[in-house]
Amino acid sequence: MSSTNQEDYRDSIATVDNSGKRIWIYPKKPKGGFYNKRKLVTYILLLILFGLPFIKYNGNPLVLFNIPKGEFIIFGIYFAPQDFHLFVIAMLIGIVFIVLFTVIFGRIFCGWVCPQTIFMEMVFRRIEYWIEGDYKAQIRLNKSNWNQNKKLAKKTLKHFLFILVSAVIAHTFLSYIIGIDALWELMTSPVDAHWTGLFAMIGFTTVFYGVFAFMREQVCTTICPYGRLQGVLLDENSLAVAYDFERGEPRGKLVKAKKGKKSECKDGCSTCKTNDSSCPSKTLNATLENFLPEPKGDCIDCNLCVHVCPTGIDIRNGTQLECVNCTACMDACDEVMIKIKKPTRLIRIDSYNGIATGARSLWNTRVAAYSLVLISLIVLESFLFISRSSIETLFLRTPGMLYQKQDDGYISNLYNYQLINKTDLESEITFIVKDIEGAIIEVVGEAPRTQIRKISEGAVFIKLPASSLSSRKTNLVIEVIADDKVIDKVKTSFLGPRK
Ligand code: SF4
Ligand code: SF4
Repeated sequence: MSSTNQEDYRDSIATVDNSGKRIWIYPKKPKGGFYNKRKLVTYILLLILFGLPFIKYNGNPLVLFNIPKGEFIIFGIYFAPQDFHLFVIAMLIGIVFIVLFTVIFGRIFCGWVCPQTIFMEMVFRRIEYWIEGDYKAQIRLNKSNWNQNKKLAKKTLKHFLFILVSAVIAHTFLSYIIGIDALWELMTSPVDAHWTGLFAMIGFTTVFYGVFAFMREQVCTTICPYGRLQGVLLDENSLAVAYDFERGEPRGKLVKAKKGKKSECKDGCSTCKTNDSSCPSKTLNATLENFLPEPKGDCIDCNLCVHVCPTGIDIRNGTQLECVNCTACMDACDEVMIKIKKPTRLIRIDSYNGIATGARSLWNTRVAAYSLVLISLIVLESFLFISRSSIETLFLRTPGMLYQKQDDGYISNLYNYQLINKTDLESEITFIVKDIEGAIIEVVGEAPRTQIRKISEGAVFIKLPASSLSSRKTNLVIEVIADDKVIDKVKTSFLGPRK
């Protein structure tokens, strides 16, 4: 086969045939050590996902992403929309971390942590195995008529459970947005009080049901942008689920050796090495070695690794974009190797270089560069987080207003302020103009006061003696005081007559 032909499988994906039609994947039910570990990881992650919305800290949710209201709580710390820069940097940290992790450890995230794979392989697929049986039984069931093999009952039960789990997932995600109390209120109040919420829930449930019941691995192979990035992220040193072609090839079926007796050989020719029926002396007189098949690699071409693959690929072809590193093929192959008394890990987590040359190196220029960027971003985020004030002040001269000359020799400017309170406390606020003798602040309306996790607004006049102004525009620093402490300092400008 030419090298071009050997790479043909890269021109198409395993789940689409030549006419462009979807090939439905029936993966064999996985089992083995890695699968058991994945189950454990899944239980922990699902416990966190479904349990977090119920945990409260100081009467507030531990985690909340209320995008419509601009309210974000992460591990009990409240973030306002004004902290958006922290969110952007956190996103960048997440992206660089995933890139760095992928460069070193390949796509392990997809198979072990990604919610799509976890729900698909560990929840929905297991419901399917439970109701319809393993892959061969599923194929039989799908080919049978609706009145055979309890097909109608099995399909109805399966899709009912799929919709139910999809609804639970949709409600859980909503609880991260509006909070568990608001969700409960929504669920227990009359439907006509929240039609929008009801339609949103039906919409999200339908999307989850569609993804897990029908789209399945297509999400990973054709939609997920992270999957598309693998080609540029992985190199020959990246770890991934990989087949040891050095050990496995040339692959071939197991052939039992036939026994002969060396003493019966009359001719001593070598014909029997290839075919005992062509023995010229018809004595079937070969040594054991003569009848052994040609030396082969450890792969016995049983195709079990292909049967268990949820994306329908043959990992023996090399690293492919469809592979989500779920390690199901590792378990399957290990089981085969144990049966034929060969060392396990013919399919293992290794790099291309590790398999081809035995040289493994996780540290290279790319890894160093990504690590540097990641550390810099973490330092920046930490600094901004530590220096972030719990009450933020915006203090701006009222647009379109000129200065006013007062009878007492003062010049006044009107300002608007906003107090963004990120705490659960309310405080009286005082503004003081720093370093200007005789400066007066007169509050318009109610005295400034913060409200719990809210923005309070108001206006003040700042009056400065005309004698203290040396130019048309004077820069001011305003101290914001709460409970006798300076909690923030803001800069603004003051307009006066031309000198
Ligand atoms: S499971 Fe192992 S032995 Fe069987 S085909 Fe796959 S790589 Fe070869
Ligand atoms: S090739 Fe192996 S690790 Fe990759 S998706 Fe298929 S079964 Fe999972």
